[in-house]
Amino acid sequence: MARYTGPVCRLCRREGIKLYLKGDRCYTEKCAIDRRAYAPGQHGLGNRKKQSEYGLQLREKQRARRIYGILERQFGNYFDKAERQPGVTGENLLRLLERRLDNVVYRLGFASSRTEARQLVRHNHFTINGRKVNIPSVLVKVGDVVQVKEKSLSSVKFQELKENLKHKTPPAWLELDKEQMSGKVLALPSRDQIDVPIEDHLIVELYSR
Ligand code: SF4
Repeated sequence: MARYTGPVCRLCRREGIKLYLKGDRCYTEKCAIDRRAYAPGQHGLGNRKKQSEYGLQLREKQRARRIYGILERQFGNYFDKAERQPGVTGENLLRLLERRLDNVVYRLGFASSRTEARQLVRHNHFTINGRKVNIPSVLVKVGDVVQVKEKSLSSVKFQELKENLKHKTPPAWLELDKEQMSGKVLALPSRDQIDVPIEDHLIVELYSR
């Protein structure tokens, strides 16, 4: 299945929540879900049937997929991996998604959305522990240092992003060096440090059917 390339605000309206897919725009009054808080399409404003249990579980999985920008099969692979790990599967799943390099770049404030982070990673702007990495799905480990490449630092784009970092506080599991534009993974995130509006138990229930 190809990656979704249509209007992303439509996805938020479909899910009925802000997925923050458009960076800074999501925090302004231009946000589509603030202006049209109903599902897109012909029946968006009509009476909607009460969702079945399966429907709720499916929606939750789709929300998670869309927030992190993951394809269906890849998401299933993350779930399998999470299930094999010790601990609570739902938490393991979210932790794996948080460990993706594109997510870490976004969390550190080096990009305004995960979509932008993915693009910047693909365009070779980052290193992990000094080594070039251009694969957005790479999972970071505790102790890893993610840094903007020296050559990229002087570009207008990264100078703008650096300016924006002044107002940025990363989550507690990451340490941010605003001057060097680098970030260290201090620990893997606990569930309460992952601020995504996802009820992960519903996803586990879906895959357990
Ligand atoms: Fe979603 Fe952002 Fe579009 Fe608002 S502006 S609907 S949060 S993608």
